Amino acid sequence: MSLSNHYDVNEALDKALKDDFLRMATRRATDRLRNGRINITNELGNWEEWREAGEKIRNHVVENLDYYLNQLIENVEKNGGHVHLAKTPEDAVKITQEIFKKHGYKLVVKSKSMITEEIHLNPVLEEDGIEVVESDLAEYIIQIAKEPPSHIIVPAMHKNRDQIAELFEPIAGHPLESDTPTLTKFAREQMREKFLSTKIGITGCNFAVADTGTVTMVTNEGNGRMVSTLPDVQITMMGMERIVPSFKELSVMLNLLARSATGQRLSVYTTMTTPPKRDGDIDGPKEWHLVILDHNRTEILGDEDFRSSLRCIRCGACFNVCPVYRQVGGHAYGSVYSGPIGIVITPLLEQDYKRWGHLPYFSSLCASCSEACPVRIPLHDLIVKHRDRMVVKGYTSGLEKKIFKYYGHYFSNPKTLRSFIKLGSKFQFLLMKNGRITKGPAPLSNWTNSKTLPPIASPIFNDIWPNLQKELQENKGGEKE
Ligand code: SF4
Repeated sequence: MSLSNHYDVNEALDKALKDDFLRMATRRATDRLRNGRINITNELGNWEEWREAGEKIRNHVVENLDYYLNQLIENVEKNGGHVHLAKTPEDAVKITQEIFKKHGYKLVVKSKSMITEEIHLNPVLEEDGIEVVESDLAEYIIQIAKEPPSHIIVPAMHKNRDQIAELFEPIAGHPLESDTPTLTKFAREQMREKFLSTKIGITGCNFAVADTGTVTMVTNEGNGRMVSTLPDVQITMMGMERIVPSFKELSVMLNLLARSATGQRLSVYTTMTTPPKRDGDIDGPKEWHLVILDHNRTEILGDEDFRSSLRCIRCGACFNVCPVYRQVGGHAYGSVYSGPIGIVITPLLEQDYKRWGHLPYFSSLCASCSEACPVRIPLHDLIVKHRDRMVVKGYTSGLEKKIFKYYGHYFSNPKTLRSFIKLGSKFQFLLMKNGRITKGPAPLSNWTNSKTLPPIASPIFNDIWPNLQKELQENKGGEKE
């Protein structure tokens, strides 16, 4: 799931924090998305009731996942589709390769799908000599840049128009103006030719409707519609939890998704298809494969502490309010899924704290993510649970364990705590400049390298409290008289 085989958390954070453009672009985009969500949800007047409904629907599905999965599979097969259950990302990739091998196709057009990012499909297909074209404009941009998405809804939010023009120019073979109409026209022309010549398309799936075997995709560019109607063969990839029982629940979830993701009442294109193509249909794939990915979701389902994370509908609202994500963007996390939900699900999907144990510390635990989540996942609680589990499982360093042991010992005793504060207030002048603490020993220096701290008060509150208490009592006595 990494950006590359080399990932160093401090290096990644340092790089992101020094990139003024990235920070400005990320803040601007997340502000726009967050404000859009707030405005559009306020207009409903009863957003909390909608959230409650969303939570109930998703909980019901997660708790009865075996039933709804069976129902979905049965209906897809009844309609003539082929269902493939992939236990691991490698299985999902292999299934896809087999389909390509069977037909001998050498070109595929995709519409945005986080699942294909999760299983790292593109590089494998490319190694097999298949040309892979991402048809979502932002995905197309980052595909050319050879970067993973930096946000699940706005994958190229960290790129400006000049950078995009620079990326497009080698393909165009001539200089391009960096205005939006020129760039979109260029991308559209490239895409159109591919849409018309490809025989196979790969799409994601926002929700699969269990009682009909229908798959739903929401896009704002219509590319999902082209990919799911023009090619002869279609592969749809979905995580095993992305199911709704029927169209009734789907309407609630689509409302929650569009409003939370982009601040729209509904996405521009909401495409519901029940492939494959039947007699009399004017378009649609003749052959349809639905690949349902587990990738440790079964383990999450069996884990009471983290089961609620399966409610996620990948709207990205938690990203847009997270004070950490808003400063560093998605690439600094090193994982395919970033932001608060990425912190929660990455160590679970990968079942690996050794590699992904840095993620639960990418959070201030302010709980804005939980408040923004349309299906009320208690993200900040889950992040604390990860930290807790890592301590219990012994993933913390020996030094950290010692520090917290002594910290607990001294700071739980009021007498020693007071002596430490007094000591600090006496010697803090060594670290101060202009009335603020400006340099500190490690690990405090990580903070003081970029920020200052207020000094410890002198005298400390505990020293003045007895006199204050006395004064208060005297004043009370005076009032009575
Ligand atoms: S955790 Fe909630 S807010 Fe975040 S992406 Fe998932 S549904 Fe959206």
